[in-house]
Amino acid sequence: VVNELTKLPTVGEKTALRLAYHMLTRGKKDAASLASAISEALSRLTLCQECFYFAEEHLCEVCSDPSRDTRTLCVVEKPADVLVLERSSTFTGLYHVLHGLWSPLRGVRPEHMTLDPLLSRVRRLKQETAPLREIILATSTTVEGDATALFLAQELEGLGIELSRLAQGLPKGGELEYADEVTLAHALQGRRGF
Ligand SMILES: [Zn+2]
Repeated sequence: VVNELTKLPTVGEKTALRLAYHMLTRGKKDAASLASAISEALSRLTLCQECFYFAEEHLCEVCSDPSRDTRTLCVVEKPADVLVLERSSTFTGLYHVLHGLWSPLRGVRPEHMTLDPLLSRVRRLKQETAPLREIILATSTTVEGDATALFLAQELEGLGIELSRLAQGLPKGGELEYADEVTLAHALQGRRGF
């Protein structure tokens, strides 16, 4: 159990030991429901065919919600980013999850991201009754996040859509997932043209 726990982000060996000890002694019941919740989620979750966020059917909760604003699309690196943005901001637009960042040094190329589906989706969203007007490039402010935003900006050029980038207050080199909720909400509100 300790071995498996230390594979999780931010869990060191000390914490893993403490958690394992708790789960196998006083917290047995909670541990059993945690295990079944994880295995149920793993068997039911799939990726949304539109935005590649987690979904239980072919569309996720956001894409299947007709009240979402089709004029704004927020592009993020991973599903966890959608989760934090949904929780911390009043963003009502749509998302697109890249499932990776462009990283020539690590051999991650554009075809490893969900770039083609993004481009065809953008073209489709431009035909909506409320056509797409703005794309927020909300990748992290790391070197790879910035490089990806720049790359996307080049790909999306000429489509007549305003591009913006989260910036204000987010620490340089910071990952979106670990930003606190207030900072993130401000960063989204204070986004600037790209
Ligand atoms: Zn979706």
